[in-house]
Amino acid sequence: MAASLSNMQAAMTRTTVSATQTAAGVTSSPSKVRLSAVVPATSNSRLHTSLLPNFVALRTDVRTVSRRGARESRNAGKVFASVNGTGSSPGLPIDLRGKRAFIAGVADDRGFGWAIAKALSAAGAEILLGTWVPALNIFETNLQRGKFDESRMLPNGGMLEIAKVYPLDAVFDTPEDIPDDVKNNKRYAGSSKWTVQEVAEAVKADYGSIDILVHSLANGPEVTKPLLETSRGGYLAAISASSYSYVSLLKYFLPIMNHGGVSLSLTYLASERIIPGYGGGMSSAKAALESDTRVLAFEAGRKHGIRVNTISAGPLGSRAAKAIGFIDDMINYSCANAPLQQELKSDNVGNTAAFLASPLASAITGTVIYVDNGLHAMGLAVDSPCVAKAASAPSEMSNVPA
Ligand code: NAD
Repeated sequence: MAASLSNMQAAMTRTTVSATQTAAGVTSSPSKVRLSAVVPATSNSRLHTSLLPNFVALRTDVRTVSRRGARESRNAGKVFASVNGTGSSPGLPIDLRGKRAFIAGVADDRGFGWAIAKALSAAGAEILLGTWVPALNIFETNLQRGKFDESRMLPNGGMLEIAKVYPLDAVFDTPEDIPDDVKNNKRYAGSSKWTVQEVAEAVKADYGSIDILVHSLANGPEVTKPLLETSRGGYLAAISASSYSYVSLLKYFLPIMNHGGVSLSLTYLASERIIPGYGGGMSSAKAALESDTRVLAFEAGRKHGIRVNTISAGPLGSRAAKAIGFIDDMINYSCANAPLQQELKSDNVGNTAAFLASPLASAITGTVIYVDNGLHAMGLAVDSPCVAKAASAPSEMSNVPA
């Protein structure tokens, strides 16, 4: 443990740049919106022209990709055969030994990113983290002091080992994008090379390649405001930090992702259903993220054989969610109204991520996977005072709060 932490500490890179952000997940973000990160500077005609060669390349690659796809299918089959054929080991194994994962958006042990890191690690993957620069110091300190030791425990008795933590701010693609007020902000002092492009380059220099890319971050400075009261700046900041950040991550990491790799993000039901209180453009950002998941699945799938999926998670009392202000109510609501009346654990999402990252999911891409105890499927709040109990739930009525 001590060795792994000191390695990690030594591995952390530092510089002198800064920002106007404050920590808290979906909380705060730059006061100045980076329009260049949201809207491509190209005109429509330039955009079409620049895309053409890519689509030609996509078409010509098909036969090579088909052969690779067949090989991967056979490998997935071997996973079953090695278990069921011998009968020596019951169940389906998720074996990610030899795989390397980069997980963006881990700054404590309470959120989905941490649980995903644990599940991938338990399956044998090597873990690299990207931690938001303003949250890096406290995360590093807590790790060193052993504050997360209990939650680093894995089901097999091992511990989550983090090979390296990279400072990251996914709102900025390249050093040229960083405005002076961010450069001079003391919360960025001491860290360096934290734009998406630089982090991808650093991972390439350190490890050569990755197999799994996870985006577990969101930020909406006006999340507590209704959409009608959200400013243009707040709306675009939410999209930049919570949606385009994923496009950017995949864009810069794709060249170092091994063929057959996997990319995942986290989304929320507010993208497709009205969730009053999840404001500031965050619902729009999640809708964009889900739409981008489909388009990126096509582009990254054709070009590099990469699968792209997003997990729509139920409510969890993470640091980011606490910033929204009503997460406890949402958890209670889910327990009262979802088909499965149990509180969502971050491990539920972690285990799904491990499955999606494994060959067992080798034909799943471009999809929103719900891990929410089934809440998304409900069309009626069964605990509403407007609903008669007898009509609301045919069984297990004793579990439904009065
Ligand atoms: P979390 O606080 O553990 O994770 C959010 C992370 O985003 C934090 O580590 C924060 O430091 C990081 N971050 C914010 N801005 C960043 C930036 N510019 N660059 C890099 N990192 C940045 O909270 P969480 O709830 O586990 O959130 C993870 C993902 O899950 C988010 O996409 C969130 O929208 C999604 N989600 C959460 C819930 C929930 O109820 N908690 C439900 C559905 C989906």
